[in-house]
Amino acid sequence: MEDLIIGSHVSYNKKEGLVGSVKEALSYGENTFMFYTGAPQNTVRGPIDENVVNEAKKIMKENNIDINNVVIHAPYIVNLANDKEPEKFNFAVNFLKGEVSRAKKLGINLIVLHPGSHVGLGKERGLDNIIKGLNIVLSEKEGPVICLETMAGKGTEVGTTFEDLKYIIDGIENQNRIKVCIDTCHIHDAGYDLNNFDEVLEKFDKIIGLNKIGCMHINDSKNEINAHKDRHDNIGFGKIGFDNLMKIIYHEKLKGIPKILETPYVSEKEGEKDHTYPPYKFEIAMIRNKKYDKNLLSEIRNYYK
Ligand code: FE
Ligand code: FE
Ligand code: ZN
Repeated sequence: MEDLIIGSHVSYNKKEGLVGSVKEALSYGENTFMFYTGAPQNTVRGPIDENVVNEAKKIMKENNIDINNVVIHAPYIVNLANDKEPEKFNFAVNFLKGEVSRAKKLGINLIVLHPGSHVGLGKERGLDNIIKGLNIVLSEKEGPVICLETMAGKGTEVGTTFEDLKYIIDGIENQNRIKVCIDTCHIHDAGYDLNNFDEVLEKFDKIIGLNKIGCMHINDSKNEINAHKDRHDNIGFGKIGFDNLMKIIYHEKLKGIPKILETPYVSEKEGEKDHTYPPYKFEIAMIRNKKYDKNLLSEIRNYYK
């Protein structure tokens, strides 16, 4: 098994389902991937075709993708922190129950979840709501693991510190079903200094424990440390920088942990705001190559145009 488990966010559509996702990941040279089971911004979800899943598993096996490293991202509008309207809270809980059962049907073990936003209710109440919701979602002893994502701290997001996440984790009954997804852009935006990543990791280990890292999101950030903005940038093109990200990606203590890129698509022309070309094939090649390529974005444009 390869030490470096690296992939990106890929699409998942009604027509091709998981087979389409696997093929897209392979086309970028990845050995894992992450997808939403439908549109990320809504909760409309279709049925899962067993034949498609079997076909996808076959392709994964042939290409040395271990399905245990594949990740589902729950839609980001699901908010367990808000119990102001009980029917909305219940909807979020039920949706996540559905997401867990979809993960089971797909044979996938890791689900990334944004902890939520307290929307003015206060952090503590938000965190307690998340615990309450997750204990319902994770009521069965065995099943897929929910990885709470470290958040940048936009608006009233909770889960922006390791202490917040530890507080949630401590409230979960089935400990084997709860882990963390460290997002490099988010922890940088939340104020953790990735110039001293060893210290950050030590802090994580002391507060939560390295054994609780289920997966990672590897993104550069468009903003300075502590900006609480959550705007991802391409690897080596943001404020975290190539060397710091490489140190994280190849860190001895993070070997074998699935690492997923969620970097932005590249615009058709430099300086434009559209998001047209997927960067992942090129970013992953650069990561494997361990050498920063300052012309990467124009190479991507040339390749796809
Ligand atoms: Fe996320
Ligand atoms: Fe992320
Ligand atoms: Zn983000």
